[in-house]
Amino acid sequence: MVDQEGEQSLGGQAFWSFGGLFLVDTPEQRRLGVKDSFELAWQDWQGTAGFDRLEDEDAFAYRWAKAYVEFAAGEKYSWLKEKGIKLFPVVGWAERGGSFADGHGNSVPRFHITWGTGPGLLEPFLKRVQSARVAGLLDFKPRHQVTELIAKNGTVVGIAGTILAEDNTPRGQETSREIVGEFYHYADAVIVASGGIGANLELVRQNWPSRLSSPPQNMIAGVPAFVDGKMLAVSEKVGGASLIVIACGIIRKG
Ligand SMILES: Cc1cc2nc3c(=O)[nH]c(=O)nc-3n(C[C@H](O)[C@H](O)[C@H](O)COP(=O)(O)OP(=O)(O)OC[C@H]3O[C@@H](n4cnc5c(N)ncnc54)[C@H](O)[C@@H]3O)c2cc1C
Repeated sequence: MVDQEGEQSLGGQAFWSFGGLFLVDTPEQRRLGVKDSFELAWQDWQGTAGFDRLEDEDAFAYRWAKAYVEFAAGEKYSWLKEKGIKLFPVVGWAERGGSFADGHGNSVPRFHITWGTGPGLLEPFLKRVQSARVAGLLDFKPRHQVTELIAKNGTVVGIAGTILAEDNTPRGQETSREIVGEFYHYADAVIVASGGIGANLELVRQNWPSRLSSPPQNMIAGVPAFVDGKMLAVSEKVGGASLIVIACGIIRKG
């Protein structure tokens, strides 16, 4: 496992998150009298996504979304509980949207808040990473920035990139991009989990939806600097598909 940031940043954005989890038809919802189901959640999801290019651009997004809603209505709850994650008893309303079942957004509350928010959510996963390292099952290489996916006969067989200088800047702050070496690693399977584009305002502008008019001149990124979106182009070079969703809030001046 490689990451362009140091050990102190392990867990990425999840550390900063509220730990709000999308879950469907849970004991917490039922206790509050909320009637939810996979069917309703999938209808809500499709109402927001507006999939209309199932033959090409939307094909993977549709399959991913359906599998994710099935997971959220199925084993996700017991899987999280098994890991020791506890939930706040009040279920919230993030992404409420129009709040009707035939429009966009959630039509019932589904935002389950983790006790301890982001750090509480990360804790069991970080413990697992550390015990795998101690057991010699996981080799973690911090400050390794991937710049290329190595492909052979249409299959990704490895990664290549630059080793960045050690930097002990606290979690969440921008770190140096000074290059001190190069690396190559080969593997049977390569999984890219490099996050979005939120701190790369140039990429945000390039991907700005035309229906929202032109992008604002001044924008504030709500994510750490490592959310640079560079791996999207690297992945697309070897045939990867990406889905970019622009989420923005508007702050009035004055
Ligand atoms: C303040 C805040 C609150 C949030 N609240 C919620 C919430 O309540 N509920 C919710 O569902 N979501 C929330 N989110 C969003 C959620 O935290 C993120 O969507 C999620 O954590 C992203 O996970 P990820 O693994 O895809 O990417 P990231 O967490 O961004 O991790 C990507 C990792 O890849 C590394 N990386 C990137 N490029 C390279 C490269 N080229 N080479 C090597 N390493 C690389 C990065 O350094 C990073 O460690 C919130 C986010 C923020 C910032």
